[in-house]
Amino acid sequence: MNRVEKIRCGECGKKDVTEQNVRDQWGMPWRDFPFVKVESDLVLPMCSHCGNVIIPASAVDTIDNALQNAIQNLTKTLLSEIKKKHGLKLVNIAKLTGVTPEYLSMLLNKKKVPSFQLIQLLTILRSHPEMVPELSTPWHLEMPTKNLA
Ligand SMILES: [Zn+2]
Repeated sequence: MNRVEKIRCGECGKKDVTEQNVRDQWGMPWRDFPFVKVESDLVLPMCSHCGNVIIPASAVDTIDNALQNAIQNLTKTLLSEIKKKHGLKLVNIAKLTGVTPEYLSMLLNKKKVPSFQLIQLLTILRSHPEMVPELSTPWHLEMPTKNLA
């Protein structure tokens, strides 16, 4: 750990700022997500005294990439688990979440970043698949499918 010279912590005022890997221990609000934790190696100046992380202007793009990567990995994991656990195909998941299978395919290949709402819906779908049709299809829009004869 290298000591970062001449940097004083903005929170506690101490000069205990060192370069530290913040993987799995630091995050911040990002886009429409209230909080995203960094899950890859990322070295940032951190105050050893109070834990405050200092964001240098030069690191903004790197941090943005790390947070985007964390969301894309989470999305890929959610989609893979939903497919495996409930035997659903992308076309089924698309129907349940109101997006296209093509868009889900891009999410699976980490080509796009989903909204916070879609992540929430996928999280519910993973644990409680029976809830999602009810959420995505209000009763008055449902097609009658049973016992029509
Ligand atoms: Zn501090």
